[in-house]
Order: sequence, then structure tokens, then C-alpha cells
Amino acid sequence: MSAIKELAKQMQKLEAQLITCMKCGMCQSVCPLFKQTHKEADVARGKIALLESLMKEMFDNPHGVNKRLNKCLLCGSCEANCPSGVNSLEIFIRARTIITKYLKLSFIKKQILRNVLARPYIFNKLINIGTKFQKYILVDKHPNTQTASLKLLSPLLNNRRIVPFANLPFEKSIDKLITNTNTTGPRVAFFTGCLIDKIYPRVGIATVKTLLHHNLRVFIPKNQGCCGIPALAAGDMDTFLSLVKYNLKIFDPGNVEYIVTSCATCTATLKKLWTSMTQSQNQNLRSQIMAFAEKVYDINEFLTNIVGLKKQKNQSIKSKKNVTYHDPCHLAKSLGIKKEPRQIINAAIEYNLKEMTDADLCCGMGGSFNLYHYDISLKIGNIKKKNIQDTSCHTVATSCPACMMQISDMLSQEKSNIYVKHPIELYAQGIE
Ligand code: SF4
Ligand code: SF4
Repeated sequence: MSAIKELAKQMQKLEAQLITCMKCGMCQSVCPLFKQTHKEADVARGKIALLESLMKEMFDNPHGVNKRLNKCLLCGSCEANCPSGVNSLEIFIRARTIITKYLKLSFIKKQILRNVLARPYIFNKLINIGTKFQKYILVDKHPNTQTASLKLLSPLLNNRRIVPFANLPFEKSIDKLITNTNTTGPRVAFFTGCLIDKIYPRVGIATVKTLLHHNLRVFIPKNQGCCGIPALAAGDMDTFLSLVKYNLKIFDPGNVEYIVTSCATCTATLKKLWTSMTQSQNQNLRSQIMAFAEKVYDINEFLTNIVGLKKQKNQSIKSKKNVTYHDPCHLAKSLGIKKEPRQIINAAIEYNLKEMTDADLCCGMGGSFNLYHYDISLKIGNIKKKNIQDTSCHTVATSCPACMMQISDMLSQEKSNIYVKHPIELYAQGIE
């Protein structure tokens, strides 16, 4: 009975947000999912209509509601273009937590989220083991995008190409770099994020080199936890809160002036979802979260707006390479950061920025959406791939490691020669 009461309470909170939708349908024209499926149920307005009758639907067909809610990239295109300011992302995530509480997590998800993701030490150990054994199942490596196929498993994974775990995670690559410096500037903590730590340590290394080059003191806590977005996307509020508390403890935000990330998704989660999804927590925890979130910056924004870009060393560059830029949804739509990564690229001595068509169109990754709906993810990703190829650029840059993985998959399926990089890698090349 108390579970039903709690459910009703949560739904009342959701209703207060739902009434702001005036059903204008403007979200339809910008939803990358709707462009592929042409189903009203997939767009924000359709999902909001579903949620308005959630109490009834939840008893009639809870699994159907769950399925419809999870068919979403959480790209925020609807929210960014909504004339009524409907917080669709927060609504969808809140609804996922309500329905997951009602349906309960599946056994496998529970093990992955609560016994692995929520325990960074165990998570890191398991990834280390996976890294040692991945060479036995990876074939057909593609050098420019660093992707490979998963031998026998490939047909099961719809022939997608993956970016393998790095031989050495960022956390183990960094000690020497940090101890070799005598910098005195403001103290900056680097929130690494799982994908940069385990898949793209080179992005983390470029970030730290750049911060040191700008005379900042860099603090990198060991055994950092995930930002919590996979838990929230799965509706698991308990794991999310446990990761929030864990990271607050190891980052000790009172002792740093800034917290910088190079992952668009981590930035948006730390800045927006940590604050919006914890409103019912106690005052002490809330004030720690607010103090933390206030200090969080995306590296592009931090360098251009807070620190100031430095002129790079005068190398004799014979011909600059053209690079195009893909706007990650979590940076451009959630946080409005668009011009800063372009300024970083323009400041990189070896590169020229050349815009692609629809640079801010979603790449189709959408976290777990890519796992469950790869057919749609592929269709959306192929539009992005074509827009990149049409520029004839040497490199495509983007500020989110998840977008880097998706774009690498798309390009390598055609054995494209285009490199996939983070803007900070291009900038750091000029300071080495
Ligand atoms: S979510 Fe916003 S854009 Fe979409 S129908 Fe509602 S008011 Fe219109
Ligand atoms: S978050 Fe993206 S995929 Fe989901 S409804 Fe909004 S626009 Fe469509």
C-alpha cells in the first residue's frame, strides 16, 4: 500500500511538469527518431500524452509504457525547440525512475548497475580483465577510427564496429605527467568520465596537458565514479544517488576552484541532472550537490571563457588540414555550448574548421538506445556520416566520447580514411 502511495506522490510531481505542454507539435520536426519512424508515439508530444494517463496505463500495460519511454535518444532536441519551455528530458527520466520503481529492475540490469557501475573499484577491475582478453575476439581493425569487429559475436551485434578498451586506462597513464610539473594557478579537478578513462585516455591526456600548459594545478582523484547517467537512463535512482554521494566524497569540491570534464554527457549530467533529480534530498546533500555543479565546466567552455586561449607555438605548417565539427546534443542543446569548441579548433595551429551540413543533428548514439534500437541508430548515424564525408575533411572532431564511438562505427563500416578526434586533442597537438 505504501508503494502505491509513493507512486501516486511521484506522479503528482510529474503532472505539474506535464501541464506545461500545449501540444503544439513543434517538437515533431526536430526529433531525429520521428524522422525515421514517423510515429507520433516516439516524439515528445506523444510521450507526454502517454504520461498524462500514466496511472491508468501503468496498471493496464506497464511493460508497454516502459518500452515506449525507453525508445528515445534523450537528445534534448525537443526540449531545445519547445516554445513552452517543457523540460522533456527531466520528464522522461523522472518517468523512467517511476516506472522502474513499479516494475523493478531486471536481474541482469540490477547486477550491472548496483554491483558493477556503483562500485568503481570492481568496475575498473572487470574492465582490466576484459582488456586483457579482448584481443582474442577482436578482428578487422581499422586504424583511423580505431574500431574493430567482434569475431563470432558480430552478427549478434548487427555487425556494429566497436572502439576497444585502451590498453592502459587514463588513470594509470597520468601519474608521470602530473608529478613533472610546478604549476601554481587555480586548482582544477578533472572529472574523467568512464569512456575517456577506459576507451579514449588520449583525450584525457590532451586535456591535462592543456590545463598544465595554462598554468593550472590539476587534481585527478583516483577511482572516480561514473557521472550516473546510465543509471538514470535505466530508471535506477538508487544507483544514481550512490554515485552522486561517492563522487562528492572523492572530489571534495570545497578544495577545488573548478571541475572540468571533456565529456559532453558527463558535463550535462553533473550540471543539470545532478541538480534537477535530487530536489527531494536533504538540505546538506543538496547544498553539496549545488556547490559541486556550480564548479563544473566543459573543457571547451573553460578554456575559451574562463582561462583564455593561448597562442600556439609558431610551427611552420605547410598546409593546414580541414576538420569538421559535430555538435554533441548534450553540449549544444542541453548547455548551449556551440561556439567554444569551434574557437578551440580555430586556435589549433594545424587545422582549419570547415562546417558540415546540420552539425547539430544527433549522431544516433543515445547511450543504451544504440544497444536496443541499433537499426534506427544506424539510419540516423548514416545521415551524420554522409554530412561528414561531404565536407571531404581529413578529421571530424566532437566533444563527446560517446559521439566519437558512434561516428567511428559509421565511418569504419565504409573503411573511411577520416580521423575521429576531440577538439582538445587538436589544440594539444600545438602545445606539445
Ligand atoms: S513538448 Fe513543447 S514542442 Fe512538444 S508539443 Fe509540447 S509544447 Fe509543443
Ligand atoms: S529526446 Fe530526442 S529522440 Fe527523445 S523525444 Fe526528444 S527529440 Fe525525440
